[in-house]
Amino acid sequence: MPTNRFDLPSDGTPAHWYNIAADLPEPPPPPLNPGTGEPIGPEALAPIFPMALIGQEVSAERLIAIPDPVRDILAMWRPTPLFRAERWEQALGTDCKIFYKYEGTSPAGSHKPNTAVAQAYYNKEEGVERIATETGAGQWGSALSFACSQFGIECKVYMVRVSYDSKPYRRTLMETWGGTCVASPSEDTNAGRAILAADPNATGSLGIAISEAVEDAATREDTKYSLGSVLNHVLLHQTVVGQEARDQMEMADAYPDVVIGCAGGGSNFAGLAFPFVADKLSGKDMTVIAAEPAACPTLTRGAYGYDFGDTAMTTPLLPMHTLGHDFIPAPIHSGGLRYHGMAPLVSHLVHTGVVEARAYHQTECFAEAVRFARSEGIVPAPEPTHALRAVVEQVEQARAEGVSKTILFNLCGHGNFDMASYEDYLSGRMTDYELPQAEIDEASEALAGLPTVG
Ligand SMILES: *Cc1c(COP(=O)(O)O)cnc(C)c1O
Repeated sequence: MPTNRFDLPSDGTPAHWYNIAADLPEPPPPPLNPGTGEPIGPEALAPIFPMALIGQEVSAERLIAIPDPVRDILAMWRPTPLFRAERWEQALGTDCKIFYKYEGTSPAGSHKPNTAVAQAYYNKEEGVERIATETGAGQWGSALSFACSQFGIECKVYMVRVSYDSKPYRRTLMETWGGTCVASPSEDTNAGRAILAADPNATGSLGIAISEAVEDAATREDTKYSLGSVLNHVLLHQTVVGQEARDQMEMADAYPDVVIGCAGGGSNFAGLAFPFVADKLSGKDMTVIAAEPAACPTLTRGAYGYDFGDTAMTTPLLPMHTLGHDFIPAPIHSGGLRYHGMAPLVSHLVHTGVVEARAYHQTECFAEAVRFARSEGIVPAPEPTHALRAVVEQVEQARAEGVSKTILFNLCGHGNFDMASYEDYLSGRMTDYELPQAEIDEASEALAGLPTVG
C-alpha cells in the first residue's frame, strides 16, 4: 500500500458544485453596466452566454447539482489523485507535510476541462452550435476544443500571438479535437483589425483576445462566448477540485494549515481553495495564498476597483484587482497568468483579508519546478511553478519559526507542452522582468473615470 497517494473511488467526484457566494459574510459588489453605472441584470449577458450559466453566475444556492452527462465526462479522468510530496519534502530537507492535488491527468493536461465540459453541456442544451473563446498559453483553447468535441459543437479559438508562435503544439492539439485556432490580434474581428492597424507586430494579450471572441459571439446568431476563468460560474465548476481534496486529506488523516494555488484569472486557485475557505469563514485557522507572477502582479500591486474584462471595453465592469484593461504583461512563459484582472470573488476575499497574495519572478519559480520534477517526477506547467515557489516560502518560514506545517497546493497542470520554457530555463536564457512603478501608474490611468468600489 503506497502511503503517498490518496485516491477516491471512481464514483468519488462530488455530485454538487460548491458556491462560496452563499457563505460570504458580505457579498462582493455587483458587475455594472458601463453606460449607466447601474448593476447589470442577467438579460445583459444573454446575447453571449446560455441562460443556465447566467443563472449560476448570480446564484445564492450553496450547492448546485452537477448534471449527469457532465459527471459522465468528468469521470473519464476524475477523481484526480492527491499526493503527499515525500520526495520533494526530502529534497527540501523539511519536516513540513506537503500535499498536492494533481489536475494534469485530464485530456488537456490541466484543471480547465472541469469547466469546459460544463459550459459545452449547457450551450448544447440551449441549442448553441458554435462557441468562440480566447486562450493564453493554449490550455483553455484545448480544454474547450476537447469539451466541444464531446458535444458536437464547433469551437473557434483566438490565441494570444506570443503563445501562438511559441507553443505551436497546443494549436495542433486544438485542431486534433476539431477546434479552429487563429493568432490574436487577428484580421477576423474589428477589435483585432484595429490593434493590427496601430501595430502590425502586436504580441497580443488575453484582454485583446477576449475582445475578439466576445465580438465574434455577439455578432453571430449561432455562436456564444465562453470564458475559461474569472467569472463566478467558472470558479464554481472548479470546486470539484477542492471538494475531492478535502475528502482525500481526510484519507491521509491530515488537514492543511496552508492552502496555495497560482492565480491568473483565479479559477484553479478558487477550485482548490474555496471548499477550504468555507471552513476558514466558519472559524478554522488557516492561511490561504494566491501566487502570481511579479511581471503581472494583479493582486499584489493592482488597484481594487471597477474595470473592463477586456481591452476593447466591451464587457460589463467587474469589481476586481486590476492593472488596467490596456496593461500588456511582459512575455513570461506562464501565458495563463498574463491577465490584467482577477476573479471578483478572489479579489473580494483578498480585499477582505481572507486570502493573501504573493508575487514571484519566473526564474525562481522554474528553479523550484526543476527540483520538483527531479523528486516527484511530474514536470509542472509554468503557471503552477508559482504555487511551488509559494510552498517553499512557507517551508522556509516554518523552518525559521521552528514549526512544522501541513501545506496543500494545486498542481493544476503538467508542462509537457512547455519544453521551450524549460529549455529557456535550463540553458540559462530565461530572464525576469522588473515592472517599474511608473509602468503600473501609467497602465492604471485606464481606470480614470471608472467607478470605484465601496
Ligand atoms: C489557465 C491556467 C492557469 C490560470 O488560470 P486560472 O483561472 O487562474 O487557474 C493556471 N494554470 C494552468 C495550468 C492553466 O492552464
